[in-house]
Amino acid sequence: MPSSLAKPDSDQCIGHWINGALTAGAGSASGPVYNPATGEQAASLQYADAATVEQAVQVAAAAFPAWRDTPAVKRARVLFRFKALVEAHRAELAALITAEHGKLLSDADGSLQRGLEVVEFACGIPQLLKGDFSANVGEGVDSYSLIEPLGVCVGITPFNFPAMVPLWMFPLAIACGNTFVLKPSEKVPSCALRLAELLTEAGLPDGVFNVVQGDQVCVQALLDSPQVRAVSFVGSSPVAEHVYRHASDRGIRVQALGGAKNHLVVLPDADLEQAADALVGAAYGSAGERCMAVSVAVAVGDVGDALRDALLDRICALRVGPGTDGAVDMGPLITAAHRNRVLACIDAGVQAGAELLADGRKLSVPGHEQGFFLGPTFFDHARADMAIYRDEIFGPVLTLLRAESFDAAVALVNSHEFGNGAAIFTRSGQAAREFGQRVEAGMVGVNVAIPVPMAFYSFGGRKRSLFGDSRIHGEEGVRFYTRSKTITSRWPDEGADASNAFDMPVL
Ligand code: NAD
Repeated sequence: MPSSLAKPDSDQCIGHWINGALTAGAGSASGPVYNPATGEQAASLQYADAATVEQAVQVAAAAFPAWRDTPAVKRARVLFRFKALVEAHRAELAALITAEHGKLLSDADGSLQRGLEVVEFACGIPQLLKGDFSANVGEGVDSYSLIEPLGVCVGITPFNFPAMVPLWMFPLAIACGNTFVLKPSEKVPSCALRLAELLTEAGLPDGVFNVVQGDQVCVQALLDSPQVRAVSFVGSSPVAEHVYRHASDRGIRVQALGGAKNHLVVLPDADLEQAADALVGAAYGSAGERCMAVSVAVAVGDVGDALRDALLDRICALRVGPGTDGAVDMGPLITAAHRNRVLACIDAGVQAGAELLADGRKLSVPGHEQGFFLGPTFFDHARADMAIYRDEIFGPVLTLLRAESFDAAVALVNSHEFGNGAAIFTRSGQAAREFGQRVEAGMVGVNVAIPVPMAFYSFGGRKRSLFGDSRIHGEEGVRFYTRSKTITSRWPDEGADASNAFDMPVL
């Protein structure tokens, strides 16, 4: 099927995907979508009003009974075909991601691979939905559990992974038999629509997967809709907390993943070259706009100066430019407003007295002077009370802190408000083991800077990086998108004695 969405252009008004078709929806609000590498407006986006959101939810609710009753093996076959289609259109999807987000094409492709791994996991749904069966829990009585879908599930996703984060959610939700309404970030709307087209091409019935575009008005309408049964949210912590509280108040199941400030602890026995290589990639990859980006390096003992020098050599060699240029290491930030925010964070770090060793503020990329670029920035001798350490900056800014001991480093990590990922570089198995057990983070790396779990494990942090009990994908994801029921059954002979029917049943 030829795509009408592959190349956004400035005259294009991007709409929604409801009931298996593109639609402009009602309401007059719209907003710009930029190409961050040029700074130009690439298209405009239709923002769904409450009526359009409700239309999408009603469509999803109407599609639910038939999809729920479709055998899990048949639902899985749709996902097998979808996986093949995403693979066939990988270059096109990566180009869409880079056009609206700005990240490198290779990075966009890598994020698609991580998303595809969730589709692969979801293809095993018949196995994952098997319930329990116990024969003879009483004389002639059997018990078994049914694992059932919830109904209409909602996904609200951030700008930084236009394909991967939605793919964390909807493949598993629909594999479980739910129907879905996705609200992508208004900054990167096109990829979700292309995925919707590919789902339809894969044979997904109309109405099972829908996309509504917009901002917080759209989110609020989704949270208020009476038919919505579960909400998956990924984004910043203040919004995650709002979504969590609102959904919880309404008794809706909710998982809400928030922001991060990930630490990488370097012990004196670590291979410094390896640690520095890993740190630079983890801090500046995707311009630091990753929830698993490392934004804090913690040098333990006397390793600080050598680590700083090794980092600085590498940082000075980084090349910044448009994500379509295969020779660069880092693309632009998402918007001019976000770049200004990161610039203000850097200014605050300087004023607070941290030592600015690499200053990305003045960077200009020839031929892309209006792009939202910012060079790699590196602070040494930051302190835990400084805003550059406390706040999530979400840009290409790495901060180096010194800790006297392993215990002091663990205490520093654990006292931060966020607890998404944490990593340690060391040659000591004992220290690594201790770190893994004591650190308050949901994902821990040992000589791995960005410990993003595979799809068959779950993804999610602790503290203000995750609101709710449920992490995303893996078996926790299956449990999130289903609920169970226990059936106790007895098939007595006709006319058998039932004289104790008024007693508390004792099997
Ligand atoms: P964001 O919180 O601004 O937006 C996320 C989603 O919420 C978007 O769809 C947006 O339209 C919507 N939204 C924004 N403001 C809202 C409001 N006031 N009320 C209701 N909805 C609102 O996040 P972002 O800037 O798109 O993404 C970056 C953030 O996401 C960072 O904090 C990053 O750490 C986080 N993130 C976390 C993870 C994780 O797994 N923990 C993964 C990716 C990104």
